[in-house]
Amino acid sequence: MTSITPARVRYAPSPTGDPHIGNIRTAIWTWLYARHTGGQFIVRLEDTDQTREVPGSLERILGSLEWLGLTWDEGPDIGGPYAPYVQSQRLDLYHAATDRLLAEGNAYRCFCTPEELDEMRKRQQAEKRAPGYEGRCRDIPSEIAEARALDEHFVVRFKVPREGSTTVEDLLRGPVTVENRTLDDFVILKSDRFPTYHLAHVVDDTAMKITHVTRGDEWLPSAPRHALLFDALRYPRPMYVHNPVILAPGGGKLSKRHGAKSALEYAEDGYLPDALLNFLCITGWGHGDETVMSRQRLIEVFDIGNISLAPATFDAERLNWMNGMYLRQMPERELAELFARRLEIDLPADVPRPLDRSFVEEFTPLIRERIELLTDVLPLVDFYYQSEVPTPPVEQFLTKRWKDQATAAAHALGAAASDLDAIGEWDAETLEATLRATATRIDAKAGDLFSLVRLAVTGKSVTPPLFESMVIVGVGPCVDRLRAAEAAIRAVA
Ligand code: GLU
Repeated sequence: MTSITPARVRYAPSPTGDPHIGNIRTAIWTWLYARHTGGQFIVRLEDTDQTREVPGSLERILGSLEWLGLTWDEGPDIGGPYAPYVQSQRLDLYHAATDRLLAEGNAYRCFCTPEELDEMRKRQQAEKRAPGYEGRCRDIPSEIAEARALDEHFVVRFKVPREGSTTVEDLLRGPVTVENRTLDDFVILKSDRFPTYHLAHVVDDTAMKITHVTRGDEWLPSAPRHALLFDALRYPRPMYVHNPVILAPGGGKLSKRHGAKSALEYAEDGYLPDALLNFLCITGWGHGDETVMSRQRLIEVFDIGNISLAPATFDAERLNWMNGMYLRQMPERELAELFARRLEIDLPADVPRPLDRSFVEEFTPLIRERIELLTDVLPLVDFYYQSEVPTPPVEQFLTKRWKDQATAAAHALGAAASDLDAIGEWDAETLEATLRATATRIDAKAGDLFSLVRLAVTGKSVTPPLFESMVIVGVGPCVDRLRAAEAAIRAVA
């Protein structure tokens, strides 16, 4: 069991676009860990690589968290005791840390030009050696370096000890050790005076009193560098939790086609935040055999130490199934409201908004068992909103029992229209009884007649329950549509 000391944890996205779901899963686990331990969840914007910045990212990032209900206690928009939470506004802190490292001989200025570095890289490649800075400026005496810095471009590099090894504690892996000679003197401050991620996160995680650094395992190889920086600055090291990636079915990188979308794209595609949260949480983490777990339940049982080291596979079918589960569990009124809001997005512009809620409530019970995604609603119910449903092509009617039976099919539709026109009661039971009697009268099977009626009235072969739908469409339009279909078929008979 992980201890229940309140954790201070952070989600530290870079503003390089919409966070994709792998990254969002890290945010979910981090948030759950904070909530499980009664700690704090902090959002920090890591915008030190100004060349990669995509405008509007911060809004999309915060929008994704908000949609998923991942509330934050401190962050760029709300501030907090360690504000600002945007790295580009914290440059003084990184400069101060760099000055200290320089003064204490743990860092040095490097004047190598991009051309020189390029040449070095090519040489290393040709000699089949590992890439990395070789330390050319490492031993320039500091007075000389300071003088050169007045009119030359430079970066600041961390002076990695040439000997010994460094061990990082990872909560999931235990100690991870590397030989220092395999690490090169990495850049901590770039020539534009912005820090690299390495320095910035070490300074910020310390200043913000972060207890656990939860991040993707693409950062694991850099973790020893970070540990050396913490030590050189005499900062206590945080605990690391490097989580594995999500793989595509069949292995390999998760592509857009397989689900590597952003959280907001999932929202647009008709998913519920609770379902996506639940699904992502149990993709690579588990609590016994439980699968459908409410937010509250997840907070209660979330043990970060149970994150699996084996990369999980993205299972789109499971996500859809889970989304359907969440939809079906929802109280009917709430569900109708969701349907209405979704239809207000999806219905053609000529349908007046806002939609009549009580009308949506009428058909909600008819379709709730049939949908997995909110985007499934429109194709099931669009005919309720059309004053005219064009008769589908005649050949669609003339299948199975009605194949090559145009005259019989037209006759059946005509009989259904007359019988329905004659009844006073217009409820589902009466409709069904009437049409069953029609079928008997014309010597057809009820099911065969119903499929003709369904196609004529709704324009489709798969719909919510037929008789309830006909009640919603109303007697006049139903009879008209049956007659129109009859006429269309007679024209070719
Ligand atoms: N800005 C880094 C990223 O987006 C954050 C890594 C971390 O959480 O420390 O990958």
